[in-house]
Amino acid sequence: MSAWTSSRFDAGSNQDWQRRLTESLQQSSQWSEAIQPLVTKLSVGKSLSLEDGLTLYNHPNLSEVGRLAHEVRTARFDDKAFFNSNVHVNQTNVCVLACKFCAFRRSKKAEDAYAMEVDAYLEDLGQYAEFVDEVHSVGGLHPDWGIDHYEELFRATKARFPHITIKALTAVEIKHISQLSDLSYTQTLQRLKNAGLGSLPGGGAEILDDDVRAIICNGKESSQEYLDIHRSAHEVGLSTNCTMLFGTIETLEQRVEHMISLRELASETGGFQCFVPYPFLPDDTRLPEAQLATGSEILRTIAVSRLMLHSIPHIKAYRMNIGDELAELALQFGADDIDGTVQKESIMHLAGSTTPLDHDRYQLSRLIKDAGCVPIQRNTTYERFEIYVAPEPKRRKRLQVIQE
Ligand code: SF4
Repeated sequence: MSAWTSSRFDAGSNQDWQRRLTESLQQSSQWSEAIQPLVTKLSVGKSLSLEDGLTLYNHPNLSEVGRLAHEVRTARFDDKAFFNSNVHVNQTNVCVLACKFCAFRRSKKAEDAYAMEVDAYLEDLGQYAEFVDEVHSVGGLHPDWGIDHYEELFRATKARFPHITIKALTAVEIKHISQLSDLSYTQTLQRLKNAGLGSLPGGGAEILDDDVRAIICNGKESSQEYLDIHRSAHEVGLSTNCTMLFGTIETLEQRVEHMISLRELASETGGFQCFVPYPFLPDDTRLPEAQLATGSEILRTIAVSRLMLHSIPHIKAYRMNIGDELAELALQFGADDIDGTVQKESIMHLAGSTTPLDHDRYQLSRLIKDAGCVPIQRNTTYERFEIYVAPEPKRRKRLQVIQE
């Protein structure tokens, strides 16, 4: 079978994944004394607690934490690793806020401020449209763009490129549009959905703790507002992702509490499809007090996410942020999804990402296969899947030795 479908809620999981997990944990080899109680909980489908999350963060043996996360990921998805073909079009960098960590935003009068009107947006997207099935659009909070602008943008996009799913607008953008247009979150989301919005990305969650938010992103939506906006999206039938920005000023406890808040909402609505943990990138931003995450900490956070978040099917290795090498390793540490064939993106690259922009599907599938997984191309909302069969690899040329 090379192509199949799934429901929005199963999102490609093995339907009997909990039974498979129970069996595999019963057969698995010995676990350390600290990890064994967590294994017992996971094998009977019990959620891990805040203390369990801290145990995972503080456990000296990283590979044991990774092994347990890989057991859960494998029970759920075997050795599949999912990706899609998307392009990022960041519609404007003009923003009325000035989050401390943000290297992207500009004031309206800045020399390099930009705001793509509908035609410019379509022209930009048009360069990539035949190669992608999703456009991912997030941007600043433009002072003049309310619901009318975005309805026009989404209608025009769907009319010109009906095959493309629009994944757009973070929670704070939804809040901004609803305030500018004097609408509730539900009214805003319903109107945008009617105009062609297909799903919401998860950006802007940062850390769901209002003391941390007051320092790193003062003025953004509160923790509760982030959750309320995503709940409203799920209620109008829009799937969403959720994220965590780590390595700024938060504690390990705040990270685990963040995951638990998202898990609880996901258990209630079933509307989160993918969790995307990504570390703060330091260059050219304004948060000198950030702790920054090491490579091991990134892998550990991905593993902890997988173990804490049983109600969110997919854990993404966001390679644009963590780089290809760590993303590949993350597929053995609980991640099952890897960012797609992004042709262009601005926000992470301004903040210091060095991942090349023009990875094609062949290169991505090579990375997936090298990690021991099978590349599966998916649609935005994890309902359609196809095994990706890569073209024959280019033959390596033997270097000619010149004899002196
Ligand atoms: S993170 Fe978003 S809301 Fe904050 S300043 Fe940057 S563009 Fe604006």
